[in-house]
Amino acid sequence: MSPHQKNEITSLLGIIVAGALIGALFNQTLLFVALALFTYIIFMLRNAFKLQDWLEQKKDLPDAWGYWGEIFNELHILEKKKFKQQKLLSVALSRFKKAAEALPDGVVILSQHNEIEWVNPVASSLLGVNYPQDAGQKINNLIRHPDFQRYLLKNNFSKTMTFPAPDNVENTLTIQIIPFGYKQKMIFCRDITHISKLEEMRTNFVSNVSHEMRSPLTVLSGYLEMFSDKPPKDEKNFKLAIDNMYQQAMRMQRLVTDLLALSKMETAPIEHMKLVNIATLLITLKENAEILGQDKHHKINLQADEDLNLRGNVDELHSLFANLINNAVRYTPENGIISISWEKQNDEAVFTVTDNGPGIAAQHIPHLTERFYRADADRSRESGGTGLGLAIVKYAVERHDGRMEIHSTLGEGSTFTCYFPSQRFSD
Ligand code: ADP
Repeated sequence: MSPHQKNEITSLLGIIVAGALIGALFNQTLLFVALALFTYIIFMLRNAFKLQDWLEQKKDLPDAWGYWGEIFNELHILEKKKFKQQKLLSVALSRFKKAAEALPDGVVILSQHNEIEWVNPVASSLLGVNYPQDAGQKINNLIRHPDFQRYLLKNNFSKTMTFPAPDNVENTLTIQIIPFGYKQKMIFCRDITHISKLEEMRTNFVSNVSHEMRSPLTVLSGYLEMFSDKPPKDEKNFKLAIDNMYQQAMRMQRLVTDLLALSKMETAPIEHMKLVNIATLLITLKENAEILGQDKHHKINLQADEDLNLRGNVDELHSLFANLINNAVRYTPENGIISISWEKQNDEAVFTVTDNGPGIAAQHIPHLTERFYRADADRSRESGGTGLGLAIVKYAVERHDGRMEIHSTLGEGSTFTCYFPSQRFSD
């Protein structure tokens, strides 16, 4: 028994004794003892009612003396503790919410019956769930994709699942469910559209390379098979075959060289930077272009600022300008005019190649720098193209902090322009 309880029993006994003594004075002992006990009970009841009012949250915790005072005091301490804990809990909860809101991934918290309890803004936009409007709704009523429904019913969530975004089927989402607490679930979702696009690009790239390699290899192996069956006797036909085989081997070599150049630019940082005299480089490239297109009798004009030097990697710059000039030569028909210029315009160094060739239809222009994209596949292959030239140009320009613009009109010609910022050149 606690000291307070002993005190209370002592007080009760004191009341009974006091009632008995006073009652004895008036010869009414029992009546006075009963009166004393009645007063005690009233006092007890009054405090019990006060306690009930407080428990029902109708009133604040009352004051009292004696044993009840102690009880109320203890309750007051408990109430203070609870208030403090609630405050700590709400700070922790708001911290968790802030952290979950700042997450780049979507988070949805579900009850044990898959009802939505909380959703962060990323999950709202990815899954098309509105919070707080949809709170309490079953998630499987809102996200109806069959793969998602099946995943939700599973008991094993160790693997992630992928499905099209409910709001935009072009986008791909990956989700993982993490069970926690008492049968509650946390859904993590992430937009992986860019990863699946990269994966698609990789698959396309592999199939494109295989396709590009297959035709020269078929020609080469066809000739070799023919020679092994029946060695050629006619010298003219033999020479023709050798020439053809050589062309095909060169085609493969160009493809491999371009692929290596592309992969180097994709993976390795730019190095061996120095000031390159572009005018000198362009004179050499113009001479090469004249040799390349000697049968077509093009008129090639070159205007280059001799003092305008560009800081960069000489091999990459060579490849950049050569690809654009050679394209103009390859695609421009006989007697066409090709103009090359290198000059300073406002704050930029500008390289331009203009030709009056076949031009490119507008719908192709945004795709020309994609690997193996060809506006005219036959013309490209006929002229020995690999379909990688402009992809290499795009990388090389970007690695020199520049940008490329393509303007073209079908039947009139094309202009390829590269702009380099002032920190890249000296004049
Ligand atoms: P390719 O090896 O096929 O020339 P590129 O990447 O260099 O590959 O060019 C992509 C496509 O852009 C070409 O297939 C061609 O259709 C088009 N193209 C590029 N330059 C020109 C040009 N000067 N005139 C017309 N079409 C061009």
